[in-house]
Amino acid sequence: MKKYDVVVIGAGPGGMTAALYAARANLSVAMLDRGVYGGQMNNTDDIENYPGFTSIKGPELSEKMYQSAINSGVEFVYGDVQQITLDSEQVKHIKTDSDELIANAVIIATGATHRKLGVPGEDKFAGKGVSYCAVCDGAFFRNKDVAVVGGGDSAISEGLYLANVTKNVNVIHHRDKLRAQQVLQDRAFNNQKMDFTWNSNVKEIVGDDTYVTGVKVQRNGHDETIPTSGVFIYIGNVPNSKMFANLNITDEQGWILTNDEMETSVPGIFAIGDVRKKKLRQITTAVGDGGIAGQNAYEYLEQLG
Ligand code: FAD
Repeated sequence: MKKYDVVVIGAGPGGMTAALYAARANLSVAMLDRGVYGGQMNNTDDIENYPGFTSIKGPELSEKMYQSAINSGVEFVYGDVQQITLDSEQVKHIKTDSDELIANAVIIATGATHRKLGVPGEDKFAGKGVSYCAVCDGAFFRNKDVAVVGGGDSAISEGLYLANVTKNVNVIHHRDKLRAQQVLQDRAFNNQKMDFTWNSNVKEIVGDDTYVTGVKVQRNGHDETIPTSGVFIYIGNVPNSKMFANLNITDEQGWILTNDEMETSVPGIFAIGDVRKKKLRQITTAVGDGGIAGQNAYEYLEQLG
């Protein structure tokens, strides 16, 4: 069992920033992730609201953040965290699928995962026309019609990305107006390759033996099937926090509760970024949370002596 001052769980923008701050305070820091570092940034094409860059590709920003953390002495450790248990207030055991680490302070930065529609056909056609990642799968739909389900920032920005690579994008939204930032809405409404299907609830994703052929929606009380080859779903996120249930640090939806210092109710366990209960889930806010938690982990360890 390897011991660290701080273990950061999750290497998205929040976790990479927290790890950077803790390492620069001369602490030994392990940054764990169950996948490739970068988190949700890896599934994002252009990021246009991160200060210092007019536009930057998600994987490029991930790489820059990762290099900053590693160059400051952070150790990247692969592992899928299953649970945190407490020996005493000071000693935390972090169990992964293959290992166990010990730390005095833990920063949870496990982010969030796409929410599913929960309709028939969604699981059956996953990878066969149903996708949650335009950047990963958009190219499979070159010259084909696709649908995007949702009306927030992710739905519209990824819809715009899809409009560049596909024949046509039909945005299916359950309300009569979008929630996305105005700048994205303006671009979408001016894009000749984007259509909008309003006030429509998706009831089913239909297909032939192998691939998606359409989306069944209910509009004004009537069912209709919109023909399409692909369905990209962006209807919000759920927190990645089930593995921390034993700590009792979440609300009923699973968002981790913290104060402004990113402290949970367990001393020495901090939570940051999208997994935390907060209003604006973005890269900038995850990074801000990370800086605060990294510094506060240092102060917590100082006070332990
Ligand atoms: P995440 O980025 O979610 O990273 C969490 C990490 O934790 C992941 O790497 C995951 O593998 C790891 N993890 C989870 N569970 C475990 C476990 N049990 N064990 C080990 N590791 C684990 N924001 C913007 O500011 N601008 C944008 O333009 C923008 N566009 C977006 C486009 C899309 C399609 C999406 C999906 C999101 C977009 N966002 C954008 C939102 C932004 O990406 C998130 O707010 C941000 O990534 C949250 O960072 P995070 O560090 O909290 O978590």
